[in-house]
Amino acid sequence: MDLDYLQALTGGLAEEETGLAAYRHIWVVAEHREGKLLRVTRELLGRSRELAERLGARVEVALLGEKVEALAEELVRFGADRIHLAEHPLLATYTAETYTKVLAALVQEKKPEILLLGATINGNDLAPRLAQRLATGLTTDCVAVDIDESERLLLSTRPIHGGALLATMACPQHRPQMATVRPGVLRAMPADPSREGAVERAEVSLDDGDLMVKPRRVMNEFPRPTDLQEAQVIVAGGRGLGTAEGFKLLEKLARVLNGSVAASRAAVEAGWASRDRQVGITGNFVRPRVYFACGISGSIQHLMGMRGSRYIVAVNSNPDAAIFKFADYGIAGDLYQVIPALTDELKAAGVGSLT
Ligand SMILES: Cc1cc2nc3c(=O)[nH]c(=O)nc-3n(C[C@H](O)[C@H](O)[C@H](O)COP(=O)(O)OP(=O)(O)OC[C@H]3O[C@@H](n4cnc5c(N)ncnc54)[C@H](O)[C@@H]3O)c2cc1C
Repeated sequence: MDLDYLQALTGGLAEEETGLAAYRHIWVVAEHREGKLLRVTRELLGRSRELAERLGARVEVALLGEKVEALAEELVRFGADRIHLAEHPLLATYTAETYTKVLAALVQEKKPEILLLGATINGNDLAPRLAQRLATGLTTDCVAVDIDESERLLLSTRPIHGGALLATMACPQHRPQMATVRPGVLRAMPADPSREGAVERAEVSLDDGDLMVKPRRVMNEFPRPTDLQEAQVIVAGGRGLGTAEGFKLLEKLARVLNGSVAASRAAVEAGWASRDRQVGITGNFVRPRVYFACGISGSIQHLMGMRGSRYIVAVNSNPDAAIFKFADYGIAGDLYQVIPALTDELKAAGVGSLT
Protein backbone atom coordinates (compact mmCIF):
# COMPACT_ATOMS: atom_id res chain seq x y z
CA MET A 1 0.00 0.00 0.00
CA ASP A 2 1.59 3.33 -1.01
CA LEU A 3 1.41 6.64 0.84
CA ASP A 4 -0.99 8.34 -1.60
CA TYR A 5 -3.39 5.44 -1.33
CA LEU A 6 -3.23 5.57 2.47
CA GLN A 7 -3.85 9.31 2.44
CA ALA A 8 -6.76 8.87 0.05
CA LEU A 9 -8.25 6.26 2.35
CA THR A 10 -8.12 8.66 5.28
CA GLY A 11 -9.49 11.58 3.29
CA GLY A 12 -6.15 13.40 3.16
CA LEU A 13 -6.13 14.24 -0.57
CA ALA A 14 -8.29 16.51 -2.73
CA GLU A 15 -10.42 14.93 -5.48
CA GLU A 16 -7.96 15.96 -8.24
CA GLU A 17 -5.02 14.47 -6.36
CA THR A 18 -6.69 11.11 -5.82
CA GLY A 19 -7.62 10.92 -9.48
CA LEU A 20 -11.33 10.71 -8.63
CA ALA A 21 -12.06 13.68 -10.91
CA ALA A 22 -11.13 11.53 -13.91
CA TYR A 23 -14.24 9.43 -13.26
CA ARG A 24 -17.43 10.75 -14.85
CA HIS A 25 -20.90 9.57 -15.93
CA ILE A 26 -23.35 6.97 -14.67
CA TRP A 27 -23.19 3.45 -16.06
CA VAL A 28 -25.80 0.73 -15.97
CA VAL A 29 -24.86 -2.89 -16.64
CA ALA A 30 -27.62 -4.17 -18.94
CA GLU A 31 -29.17 -7.53 -18.23
CA HIS A 32 -31.03 -9.50 -20.87
CA ARG A 33 -32.46 -12.96 -21.24
CA GLU A 34 -33.55 -14.74 -24.42
CA GLY A 35 -33.03 -11.54 -26.42
CA LYS A 36 -35.10 -9.33 -24.13
CA LEU A 37 -33.98 -6.67 -21.68
CA LEU A 38 -34.90 -7.38 -18.07
CA ARG A 39 -37.24 -4.81 -16.59
CA VAL A 40 -34.71 -3.95 -13.87
CA THR A 41 -32.40 -2.55 -16.57
CA ARG A 42 -35.14 -0.14 -17.70
CA GLU A 43 -35.75 0.79 -14.06
CA LEU A 44 -32.04 1.51 -13.50
CA LEU A 45 -31.98 3.63 -16.66
CA GLY A 46 -35.00 5.66 -15.50
CA ARG A 47 -33.40 6.55 -12.16
CA SER A 48 -29.94 7.08 -13.71
CA ARG A 49 -31.50 9.62 -16.10
CA GLU A 50 -32.80 11.66 -13.14
CA LEU A 51 -29.50 11.44 -11.25
CA ALA A 52 -27.45 12.24 -14.37
CA GLU A 53 -29.44 15.45 -15.00
CA ARG A 54 -28.55 16.57 -11.48
CA LEU A 55 -24.87 15.73 -11.95
CA GLY A 56 -24.61 17.13 -15.47
CA ALA A 57 -23.47 13.66 -16.55
CA ARG A 58 -24.35 11.12 -19.24
CA VAL A 59 -26.12 7.79 -18.79
CA GLU A 60 -24.10 5.01 -20.38
CA VAL A 61 -24.70 1.27 -20.60
CA ALA A 62 -22.38 -1.71 -20.68
CA LEU A 63 -24.09 -4.23 -22.97
CA LEU A 64 -22.36 -7.62 -23.03
CA GLY A 65 -23.43 -10.70 -24.95
CA GLU A 66 -23.38 -12.28 -28.37
CA LYS A 67 -25.44 -10.71 -31.18
CA VAL A 68 -27.08 -8.23 -28.82
CA GLU A 69 -26.56 -5.04 -30.81
CA ALA A 70 -30.31 -4.83 -31.52
CA LEU A 71 -30.91 -4.11 -27.83
CA ALA A 72 -28.89 -0.88 -28.05
CA GLU A 73 -31.77 1.00 -29.69
CA GLU A 74 -34.15 -0.02 -26.91
CA LEU A 75 -31.64 1.04 -24.24
CA VAL A 76 -31.42 4.48 -25.84
CA ARG A 77 -35.22 4.80 -25.95
CA PHE A 78 -35.31 4.06 -22.21
CA GLY A 79 -32.73 6.70 -21.31
CA ALA A 80 -29.17 5.74 -22.35
CA ASP A 81 -26.92 8.29 -24.09
CA ARG A 82 -24.16 5.86 -25.02
CA ILE A 83 -23.86 2.09 -25.24
CA HIS A 84 -20.56 0.26 -24.76
CA LEU A 85 -21.19 -2.87 -26.77
CA ALA A 86 -19.02 -5.92 -25.99
CA GLU A 87 -19.89 -8.91 -28.18
CA HIS A 88 -18.15 -12.28 -28.18
CA PRO A 89 -19.29 -15.92 -28.42
CA LEU A 90 -17.96 -16.52 -24.88
CA LEU A 91 -20.32 -13.80 -23.61
CA ALA A 92 -23.42 -15.51 -25.04
CA THR A 93 -24.25 -17.01 -21.64
CA TYR A 94 -23.38 -15.23 -18.41
CA THR A 95 -20.36 -16.55 -16.57
CA ALA A 96 -18.68 -14.78 -13.68
CA GLU A 97 -15.17 -15.07 -15.14
CA THR A 98 -15.84 -13.68 -18.62
CA TYR A 99 -18.23 -10.91 -17.58
CA THR A 100 -15.93 -9.76 -14.75
CA LYS A 101 -12.90 -9.71 -17.04
CA VAL A 102 -14.57 -7.75 -19.84
CA LEU A 103 -16.39 -5.30 -17.56
CA ALA A 104 -13.35 -4.63 -15.37
CA ALA A 105 -11.26 -3.75 -18.43
CA LEU A 106 -14.01 -1.51 -19.82
CA VAL A 107 -14.51 0.31 -16.52
CA GLN A 108 -10.76 0.77 -15.99
CA GLU A 109 -10.49 2.31 -19.45
CA LYS A 110 -13.62 4.52 -19.46
CA LYS A 111 -13.81 5.41 -15.74
CA PRO A 112 -17.50 5.81 -14.89
CA GLU A 113 -18.09 7.48 -11.53
CA ILE A 114 -21.16 5.35 -10.74
CA LEU A 115 -21.88 1.77 -11.78
CA LEU A 116 -25.34 0.27 -11.19
CA LEU A 117 -26.47 -3.33 -11.58
CA GLY A 118 -29.73 -5.13 -10.85
CA ALA A 119 -29.80 -7.16 -7.62
CA THR A 120 -30.67 -10.23 -9.67
CA ILE A 121 -29.08 -13.68 -9.51
CA ASN A 122 -26.45 -12.65 -12.08
CA GLY A 123 -26.06 -9.11 -10.72
CA ASN A 124 -25.49 -10.43 -7.20
CA ASP A 125 -22.86 -12.81 -8.54
CA LEU A 126 -21.09 -10.29 -10.73
CA ALA A 127 -21.07 -7.10 -8.63
CA PRO A 128 -18.88 -8.26 -5.71
CA ARG A 129 -16.30 -9.83 -8.03
CA LEU A 130 -16.18 -6.67 -10.09
CA ALA A 131 -15.89 -4.43 -7.02
CA GLN A 132 -13.03 -6.55 -5.75
CA ARG A 133 -11.27 -6.43 -9.14
CA LEU A 134 -11.72 -2.64 -9.29
CA ALA A 135 -10.72 -2.18 -5.62
CA THR A 136 -13.82 -0.14 -4.87
CA GLY A 137 -16.85 -0.25 -2.58
CA LEU A 138 -20.22 -1.83 -3.28
CA THR A 139 -23.63 -1.55 -1.63
CA THR A 140 -25.83 -4.53 -2.49
CA ASP A 141 -29.59 -5.02 -2.58
CA CYS A 142 -30.48 -1.31 -2.43
CA VAL A 143 -34.05 -0.09 -2.12
CA ALA A 144 -33.21 3.54 -3.01
CA VAL A 145 -30.38 5.40 -4.72
CA ASP A 146 -29.83 9.13 -4.57
CA ILE A 147 -27.05 11.61 -5.11
CA ASP A 148 -25.21 14.27 -3.12
CA GLU A 149 -24.52 16.71 -5.97
CA SER A 150 -21.95 18.81 -4.12
CA GLU A 151 -19.65 15.83 -3.44
CA ARG A 152 -20.83 13.81 -6.49
CA LEU A 153 -21.58 10.98 -4.07
CA LEU A 154 -23.92 8.08 -4.69
CA LEU A 155 -26.13 7.53 -1.63
CA SER A 156 -27.25 3.91 -1.60
CA THR A 157 -29.93 2.81 0.85
CA ARG A 158 -30.39 -0.83 1.84
CA PRO A 159 -32.15 -2.78 4.60
CA ILE A 160 -29.89 -4.01 7.41
CA HIS A 161 -30.46 -6.32 10.41
CA GLY A 162 -32.96 -8.43 8.46
CA GLY A 163 -34.99 -5.39 7.35
CA ALA A 164 -35.35 -3.81 10.80
CA LEU A 165 -33.39 -0.70 9.74
CA LEU A 166 -32.47 1.12 6.55
CA ALA A 167 -28.86 2.32 6.18
CA THR A 168 -27.57 4.80 3.62
CA MET A 169 -24.01 4.19 2.46
CA ALA A 170 -21.56 6.31 0.50
CA CYS A 171 -18.17 5.50 -0.99
CA PRO A 172 -16.26 8.82 -0.94
CA GLN A 173 -12.72 7.62 -1.64
CA HIS A 174 -12.98 5.11 -4.46
CA ARG A 175 -14.41 4.98 -7.95
CA PRO A 176 -16.60 3.81 -9.46
CA GLN A 177 -19.23 3.94 -6.74
CA MET A 178 -21.10 0.66 -7.12
CA ALA A 179 -24.57 -0.50 -6.11
CA THR A 180 -26.98 -3.30 -6.97
CA VAL A 181 -30.65 -2.30 -6.83
CA ARG A 182 -33.58 -4.61 -6.18
CA PRO A 183 -35.95 -5.17 -9.12
CA GLY A 184 -39.26 -3.32 -8.73
CA VAL A 185 -37.87 -0.54 -6.53
CA LEU A 186 -37.23 2.10 -9.19
CA ARG A 187 -39.59 3.46 -11.81
CA ALA A 188 -38.67 3.02 -15.48
CA MET A 189 -39.35 6.03 -17.67
CA PRO A 190 -41.63 5.56 -20.68
CA ALA A 191 -39.82 4.73 -23.93
CA ASP A 192 -39.02 7.83 -25.96
CA PRO A 193 -38.57 6.91 -29.65
CA SER A 194 -37.11 10.34 -30.42
CA ARG A 195 -34.08 9.83 -28.15
CA GLU A 196 -30.70 9.43 -29.82
CA GLY A 197 -27.57 7.74 -28.54
CA ALA A 198 -24.17 6.51 -29.65
CA VAL A 199 -22.95 2.92 -29.81
CA GLU A 200 -19.26 2.30 -29.11
CA ARG A 201 -17.93 -1.16 -29.81
CA ALA A 202 -15.52 -2.40 -27.13
CA GLU A 203 -12.49 -4.60 -27.84
CA VAL A 204 -13.04 -8.02 -26.31
CA SER A 205 -10.17 -10.42 -25.81
CA LEU A 206 -11.36 -13.73 -24.41
CA ASP A 207 -10.43 -17.34 -25.00
CA ASP A 208 -11.31 -20.70 -23.50
CA GLY A 209 -8.56 -20.22 -20.91
CA ASP A 210 -10.72 -17.51 -19.31
CA LEU A 211 -13.38 -20.04 -18.39
CA MET A 212 -13.06 -22.26 -15.35
CA VAL A 213 -16.65 -23.38 -15.81
CA LYS A 214 -18.20 -23.92 -19.23
CA PRO A 215 -21.98 -23.41 -19.44
CA ARG A 216 -23.51 -26.22 -21.49
CA ARG A 217 -27.18 -25.28 -21.37
CA VAL A 218 -29.48 -22.94 -19.50
CA MET A 219 -32.19 -24.75 -17.58
CA ASN A 220 -35.44 -22.92 -17.05
CA GLU A 221 -36.38 -25.28 -14.23
CA PHE A 222 -34.25 -23.17 -11.90
CA PRO A 223 -35.91 -20.25 -10.13
CA ARG A 224 -36.90 -17.47 -12.51
CA PRO A 225 -37.77 -13.91 -11.56
CA THR A 226 -41.19 -14.06 -9.97
CA ASP A 227 -44.13 -12.99 -12.11
CA LEU A 228 -45.04 -10.49 -9.35
CA GLN A 229 -42.53 -8.10 -10.86
CA GLU A 230 -44.40 -8.06 -14.16
CA ALA A 231 -47.99 -8.39 -12.84
CA GLN A 232 -50.40 -5.53 -13.57
CA VAL A 233 -52.87 -6.71 -10.93
CA ILE A 234 -51.86 -8.28 -7.58
CA VAL A 235 -54.26 -9.74 -5.05
CA ALA A 236 -52.40 -10.05 -1.74
CA GLY A 237 -53.53 -11.79 1.43
CA GLY A 238 -52.43 -11.40 5.03
CA ARG A 239 -52.99 -12.90 8.46
CA GLY A 240 -56.62 -11.77 8.25
CA LEU A 241 -57.27 -14.71 5.91
CA GLY A 242 -57.02 -17.00 8.93
CA THR A 243 -56.23 -20.15 6.90
CA ALA A 244 -54.39 -21.33 3.80
CA GLU A 245 -57.82 -22.11 2.30
CA GLY A 246 -58.51 -18.37 2.20
CA PHE A 247 -55.94 -17.99 -0.56
CA LYS A 248 -58.27 -19.93 -2.88
CA LEU A 249 -60.65 -16.95 -2.76
CA LEU A 250 -57.81 -14.63 -3.72
CA GLU A 251 -56.78 -16.93 -6.57
CA LYS A 252 -60.31 -16.75 -7.99
CA LEU A 253 -60.31 -12.96 -7.91
CA ALA A 254 -56.80 -12.87 -9.41
CA ARG A 255 -57.92 -15.20 -12.23
CA VAL A 256 -60.85 -12.94 -13.14
CA LEU A 257 -58.51 -9.96 -13.32
CA ASN A 258 -55.65 -11.80 -15.02
CA GLY A 259 -53.50 -11.03 -11.98
CA SER A 260 -51.13 -12.73 -9.53
CA VAL A 261 -51.46 -13.68 -5.88
CA ALA A 262 -49.07 -12.32 -3.23
CA ALA A 263 -48.83 -12.41 0.57
CA SER A 264 -47.69 -10.53 3.64
CA ARG A 265 -44.87 -11.99 5.68
CA ALA A 266 -47.34 -13.06 8.37
CA ALA A 267 -49.18 -15.20 5.79
CA VAL A 268 -45.90 -16.64 4.50
CA GLU A 269 -44.72 -17.46 8.01
CA ALA A 270 -48.05 -19.15 8.72
CA GLY A 271 -47.23 -21.44 5.77
CA TRP A 272 -50.20 -20.28 3.66
CA ALA A 273 -48.09 -18.93 0.79
CA SER A 274 -44.58 -19.59 -0.50
CA ARG A 275 -41.69 -17.24 0.31
CA ASP A 276 -41.37 -16.05 -3.31
CA ARG A 277 -44.90 -14.53 -2.99
CA GLN A 278 -43.93 -12.24 -0.08
CA VAL A 279 -44.21 -8.50 -0.65
CA GLY A 280 -42.26 -6.06 1.52
CA ILE A 281 -38.88 -4.97 2.69
CA THR A 282 -37.70 -8.57 3.07
CA GLY A 283 -39.67 -9.80 0.03
CA ASN A 284 -40.57 -8.44 -3.40
CA PHE A 285 -40.96 -4.83 -4.42
CA VAL A 286 -43.91 -4.58 -6.81
CA ARG A 287 -45.49 -1.85 -8.94
CA PRO A 288 -48.76 -3.20 -10.37
CA ARG A 289 -51.54 -0.94 -11.63
CA VAL A 290 -53.84 -2.34 -8.94
CA TYR A 291 -52.87 -3.92 -5.61
CA PHE A 292 -55.58 -5.55 -3.50
CA ALA A 293 -54.52 -5.80 0.17
CA CYS A 294 -56.89 -8.31 1.79
CA GLY A 295 -56.66 -8.89 5.55
CA ILE A 296 -53.38 -6.95 5.66
CA SER A 297 -52.95 -4.36 8.41
CA GLY A 298 -50.51 -2.02 6.63
CA SER A 299 -47.22 -2.42 8.51
CA ILE A 300 -44.38 -0.21 7.29
CA GLN A 301 -42.40 -3.30 6.22
CA HIS A 302 -45.25 -4.41 3.94
CA LEU A 303 -46.02 -0.92 2.64
CA MET A 304 -42.44 -0.43 1.50
CA GLY A 305 -42.82 -3.24 -0.98
CA MET A 306 -46.13 -2.13 -2.56
CA ARG A 307 -46.46 1.62 -2.18
CA GLY A 308 -45.33 2.07 -5.80
CA SER A 309 -48.64 0.51 -6.94
CA ARG A 310 -50.80 2.82 -9.07
CA TYR A 311 -53.99 2.06 -7.09
CA ILE A 312 -54.28 0.34 -3.72
CA VAL A 313 -57.56 -1.32 -2.76
CA ALA A 314 -57.81 -2.43 0.89
CA VAL A 315 -60.27 -4.92 2.33
CA ASN A 316 -60.13 -5.08 6.12
CA SER A 317 -62.67 -5.79 8.85
CA ASN A 318 -61.11 -3.13 11.10
CA PRO A 319 -62.15 0.33 9.84
CA ASP A 320 -59.20 1.84 11.75
CA ALA A 321 -56.57 -0.42 10.12
CA ALA A 322 -53.49 1.57 9.03
CA ILE A 323 -53.78 0.25 5.46
CA PHE A 324 -56.81 2.52 4.86
CA LYS A 325 -54.56 5.60 5.23
CA PHE A 326 -52.58 4.48 2.19
CA ALA A 327 -55.40 2.96 0.13
CA ASP A 328 -57.07 4.72 -2.80
CA TYR A 329 -60.19 2.60 -2.23
CA GLY A 330 -61.13 0.92 1.04
CA ILE A 331 -63.79 -1.64 1.89
CA ALA A 332 -64.33 -2.11 5.64
CA GLY A 333 -65.76 -5.59 5.96
CA ASP A 334 -65.14 -9.31 6.29
CA LEU A 335 -63.06 -10.43 3.33
CA TYR A 336 -64.91 -13.75 3.27
CA GLN A 337 -68.00 -11.78 2.23
CA VAL A 338 -66.38 -8.97 0.27
CA ILE A 339 -63.98 -10.94 -1.98
CA PRO A 340 -66.54 -13.48 -3.37
CA ALA A 341 -69.04 -10.65 -3.97
CA LEU A 342 -66.39 -8.57 -5.75
CA THR A 343 -65.27 -11.57 -7.82
CA ASP A 344 -68.86 -12.30 -8.92
CA GLU A 345 -69.53 -8.64 -9.78
CA LEU A 346 -66.36 -8.33 -11.86
CA LYS A 347 -67.05 -11.64 -13.59
CA ALA A 348 -70.61 -10.60 -14.39
CA ALA A 349 -69.36 -7.26 -15.73
CA GLY A 350 -66.94 -9.16 -17.99
CA VAL A 351 -63.88 -7.40 -16.59
CA GLY A 352 -61.02 -9.55 -17.88
CA SER A 353 -58.20 -7.32 -16.74
CA LEU A 354 -57.83 -3.91 -15.15
CA THR A 355 -55.00 -2.95 -17.43
C1 LIG B 1 -37.29 -6.89 10.20
C2 LIG B 1 -38.68 -7.13 9.72
C3 LIG B 1 -38.92 -7.32 8.36
C4 LIG B 1 -40.24 -7.53 7.92
N1 LIG B 1 -40.48 -7.69 6.58
C5 LIG B 1 -41.75 -7.84 6.14
C6 LIG B 1 -42.06 -7.95 4.75
O1 LIG B 1 -41.18 -7.95 3.88
N2 LIG B 1 -43.35 -8.06 4.40
C7 LIG B 1 -44.39 -8.08 5.30
O2 LIG B 1 -45.54 -8.18 4.89
N3 LIG B 1 -44.12 -7.97 6.62
C8 LIG B 1 -42.85 -7.87 7.06
N4 LIG B 1 -42.60 -7.82 8.39
C9 LIG B 1 -43.71 -8.07 9.33
C10 LIG B 1 -44.57 -6.85 9.58
O3 LIG B 1 -44.03 -6.07 10.62
C11 LIG B 1 -46.00 -7.27 9.99
O4 LIG B 1 -45.92 -8.09 11.12
C12 LIG B 1 -46.74 -8.02 8.89
O5 LIG B 1 -46.67 -7.30 7.70
C13 LIG B 1 -48.19 -8.20 9.31
O6 LIG B 1 -48.85 -8.95 8.35
P1 LIG B 1 -50.43 -8.84 8.17
O7 LIG B 1 -50.78 -7.42 7.84
O8 LIG B 1 -50.82 -9.90 7.23
O9 LIG B 1 -50.97 -9.28 9.61
P2 LIG B 1 -51.62 -8.42 10.77
O10 LIG B 1 -50.80 -7.23 11.09
O11 LIG B 1 -51.92 -9.36 11.85
O12 LIG B 1 -52.98 -7.89 10.12
C14 LIG B 1 -54.07 -8.71 9.82
C15 LIG B 1 -55.20 -7.79 9.39
O13 LIG B 1 -56.29 -8.58 8.94
C16 LIG B 1 -57.50 -7.95 9.35
N5 LIG B 1 -58.53 -8.99 9.39
C17 LIG B 1 -58.68 -9.99 10.27
N6 LIG B 1 -59.75 -10.79 9.93
C18 LIG B 1 -60.26 -10.24 8.79
C19 LIG B 1 -61.34 -10.58 7.93
N7 LIG B 1 -62.10 -11.69 8.16
N8 LIG B 1 -61.61 -9.79 6.86
C20 LIG B 1 -60.86 -8.70 6.59
N9 LIG B 1 -59.81 -8.33 7.37
C21 LIG B 1 -59.49 -9.10 8.45
C22 LIG B 1 -57.17 -7.35 10.69
O14 LIG B 1 -58.04 -6.29 11.02
C23 LIG B 1 -55.73 -6.90 10.51
O15 LIG B 1 -55.68 -5.54 10.09
C24 LIG B 1 -41.31 -7.58 8.85
C25 LIG B 1 -41.05 -7.39 10.21
C26 LIG B 1 -39.76 -7.17 10.65
C27 LIG B 1 -39.50 -6.94 12.10
